[in-house]
Amino acid sequence: MNETPSGKIVIVGGGHAAAQLCGALATAGQGGRVHLVCEEAELPYQRPPLSKAFLKNPAEALQSFRAQAWFADAGIAVHRADAAVAIDRAGRTLRLRSGAVLGYEWLVLATGARARRLPDLAHGPNGPGGPQGELDNVAVLRSAADALRLRTLFDAAPQLTVLGGGFIGLEIAATARALGKEVTVLESAPRLLMRSVSPELSEHVLQTHLTSGIDVRLGVAVGGFEIEGQHLVALHVDGQRQTVGLMVLGIGAVPEQTLASDAGLACENGVVVDACMRTSDPHILAVGDCTRFPEGHAATLADNAGRRLRLESVQNANDQARTAAATLLGREEPYAALPWFWSEQGALRLQMAGLMPADGTRHRRPGTNPTSFSILHYVGDRLVCAESVNAPADHLAARKLLETGKSPEPALACDAAVPLKSHA
Ligand SMILES: Cc1cc2nc3c(=O)[nH]c(=O)nc-3n(C[C@H](O)[C@H](O)[C@H](O)COP(=O)(O)OP(=O)(O)OC[C@H]3O[C@@H](n4cnc5c(N)ncnc54)[C@H](O)[C@@H]3O)c2cc1C
Repeated sequence: MNETPSGKIVIVGGGHAAAQLCGALATAGQGGRVHLVCEEAELPYQRPPLSKAFLKNPAEALQSFRAQAWFADAGIAVHRADAAVAIDRAGRTLRLRSGAVLGYEWLVLATGARARRLPDLAHGPNGPGGPQGELDNVAVLRSAADALRLRTLFDAAPQLTVLGGGFIGLEIAATARALGKEVTVLESAPRLLMRSVSPELSEHVLQTHLTSGIDVRLGVAVGGFEIEGQHLVALHVDGQRQTVGLMVLGIGAVPEQTLASDAGLACENGVVVDACMRTSDPHILAVGDCTRFPEGHAATLADNAGRRLRLESVQNANDQARTAAATLLGREEPYAALPWFWSEQGALRLQMAGLMPADGTRHRRPGTNPTSFSILHYVGDRLVCAESVNAPADHLAARKLLETGKSPEPALACDAAVPLKSHA
């Protein structure tokens, strides 16, 4: 990738990865080469607060990464409220919805993910969903527009049903409960956060939400949606009819890869990239939630050699953007960052470092009070993952240990930790 530095870089998407990439390129004095194409009207902003402080407090504003003037000073041309609609790979151009056509030397897809929707609720022009593709009392949460709509819907809704017991669903449930709403969480799996956390952490999260007054139902079959006009009136839970006030879909996200797949780039539930974030077209990179990438961190590699991953986290978006910046600047710096993540759900601050192994042993390390502890995951005697609950010092120590590969610090020594059952 030793192209002339004057080659234009077009970044599609105005989220975390795009903002980080703009920052890295501007720092390298290359902002003048960059066009940033955002389908949203806002300048890039922080997404995590949308399910937390922003949803809770009507006075809370969006947290932009940088002001308009910063982009102008850096020489970055920002195209807002104008989605990219097609890539011409042969001609190296990108067409925007407005009809504008941008030539590129390098194109970077930072298109993130979309909230998963339910076919039964038939969004779109032919279904009962309205012009926004939503029933009037069914919401998803991915963008600032979604969050503003949900904040408005919250005003009039004493009762909330959350479909899905994943991170975002539980954050919304906790926020709604803190606002005094009657909240029900419906989860089809036998435990909360099943794909992401240990059984012990699932149980702690469940008990915390139950104690706060959230009605959590696990292992349920949900269907039989009754829709009148634009309104979801009721659904059936294990065959029992339940009326619905407001419902939020927290059933995961799908990578936004339409542009890439339409252009014939390799996609496998995510735009396939190599360790330097190059797609199957050497002039197109991809970063963040939309990518499927080769796992590269030493702490997890031994267990997962050759595995390709898709992650949805701020860490992944930021670190992949740094890798892409290096690639664009002619340096090969393969992505090998340690995955880490956090979630805030009412009184719970969950922090994860590393990835849960498929097999291994777990130890519970008590914290300074009954609501604070960590679950440490080992493969043999090697720490590969740490889940911390209200224990930020453990989380930071685990990250340091996993990042440097050095033997456990006193802060994480396992002698005070109680062995738990091995993974089945
Ligand atoms: C409510 C919520 C809470 C979260 N909380 C946490 C948390 O606590 N901790 C954590 O680590 N992670 C959290 N995440 C996940 C984190 O925000 C994402 O992993 C991160 O935003 C990914 O960054 P990205 O740049 O890949 O994608 P995004 O930030 O989603 O940005 C993608 C952007 O691309 C735009 N786009 C898509 N297609 C086009 C197109 N064709 N043309 C132009 N623009 C396009 C989209 O509109 C969007 O603005 C949360 C996410 C949500 C939604």
